[in-house]
Amino acid sequence: MTPTWAQLAYLVAAVCFILSLKGLSSPKTARNGNLIGAVGAVLACGTIFFARDLDHLLPILIAIAVGTVVGVVGARRVQMTQMPQLVALFNGVGGGAAALVALLELRHLVALSGVGAAPEFDLAATAFTIVIGGVSFSGSMVTFAKLQELMTSRPVTFPGLPILFGGALLACFALSVVMVLDASIWSGIVLGVLGLALGVLLVLPVGGADVPIVISLLNAFTGLTVAAGGYVLGNTVLLVAGTLVGASGTLLTKLMAAAMGRSLFNTLFGALKGGSTLGAGEISDRPVRSAGPQDVAILLGYAHRVIIVPGYGLAVAQAQHTLRELVDVLGEKGIDVDYAIHPVAGRLPGHMNVLLAEAQVPYEQLKEMDEINGEFKDADVVLVVGANDVVNPAARTTPSAPIYGMPILNADEAEQIIFMKRSMRPGFAGIENELLFDPKTTLLFGDAKDTMGKLLTAVKSI
Ligand code: NDP
Repeated sequence: MTPTWAQLAYLVAAVCFILSLKGLSSPKTARNGNLIGAVGAVLACGTIFFARDLDHLLPILIAIAVGTVVGVVGARRVQMTQMPQLVALFNGVGGGAAALVALLELRHLVALSGVGAAPEFDLAATAFTIVIGGVSFSGSMVTFAKLQELMTSRPVTFPGLPILFGGALLACFALSVVMVLDASIWSGIVLGVLGLALGVLLVLPVGGADVPIVISLLNAFTGLTVAAGGYVLGNTVLLVAGTLVGASGTLLTKLMAAAMGRSLFNTLFGALKGGSTLGAGEISDRPVRSAGPQDVAILLGYAHRVIIVPGYGLAVAQAQHTLRELVDVLGEKGIDVDYAIHPVAGRLPGHMNVLLAEAQVPYEQLKEMDEINGEFKDADVVLVVGANDVVNPAARTTPSAPIYGMPILNADEAEQIIFMKRSMRPGFAGIENELLFDPKTTLLFGDAKDTMGKLLTAVKSI
């Protein structure tokens, strides 16, 4: 029985989690939101040590110490551009841990069912936790491998994959029913293995451009697993936290799928019918117009209205500070400048907001896609810095393109378009961008930080 003081502490922790989500919904309050969530998590974890007489205290403390060191070192070292991989890893171990806890709890339920006292609903929740925790773990690991380029980020399919997937799914259902009727450790272990297989089969056919949606979906799965685990263990704070993660993960998945113009079903299973494959990623040798920093500075210096489109390459080059300086100088010259933020620019939701906030860009200059898309036609110059897919017109015109249907920034409507990138290589989706060959387009080749520095000097001198 959990003492009253501990239940109150759990309640406070749950309130912290809710306030944390509220805080995280705006860039201005996100830092505080994160902190409040961390306080809630520490409170919840600390409470259990005083609320119960724990067996195996030493191994638990050692495990916590190891986890803390790995977590702190990993999170401190990770580059912002590698954040999705980190999220995938953390999410995977969360789901895997919940599945392991459920397997251990199954031992008690098996003992109870031996005397006919195991509650069926607890067994059903345990089966659910084991399967979905397994899916979450293995799915997240495959996602990690795709993002870290340890394996191809293109959809991996093979004949019979849908049948194998459907078979594994049916087997999970059947075995879960068997486990509820006649609980045994073995049925739990086989369910875990089936869950792991399901996770791999679920993520393999997903193409690189859709991976963020899948991370978010797996995150929702982990939340549901933790919530079910909380039910089995009779732990309210796990139940609340898991439900919050499950619900917010589901909403985020829906929002991201909408931002990329894809249905969730198409994201997960599109490749099986040949619809969601990545492009070949070849580098075109068609002619393009390129210029040096001096020419581009003149275009910018004589414009009235400039829109900046930041993308993944800005983060890779860490050119956000120099970009802000450039925008400040243009502002001093009386030029009207805004940043156009695409919801999936970069490699994680909100990537550009965080990156530009780090460079102290005022929030008022950041305009979301819907807000700014009508303004491109009045812009003299659009400066696309390390972005590609988010301005690729193939999203409107090429039904076979993996990004087809994704709403894009209307950069093509501006009078002049300048791309800052290093080469003619495509973006994340691996497809050619016709806008690079548009007569209105000029390419400023080079690493964004390096060329941005030269551009800044050139703009200052005119
Ligand atoms: P893209 O990946 O489409 O393009 C990035 C561009 O940056 C490339 O053209 C690359 O060209 C250039 N680049 C890379 N490094 C540098 C550098 N050092 N200096 C200058 N340029 C550089 O990025 P976008 O932001 O336009 O689009 C995001 C893509 O990522 C979308 O397809 C989205 O679906 C996907 N995605 C989004 C996630 C999210 O949640 N935001 C998560 C995961 C994927 P070059 O190599 O020639 O320099």
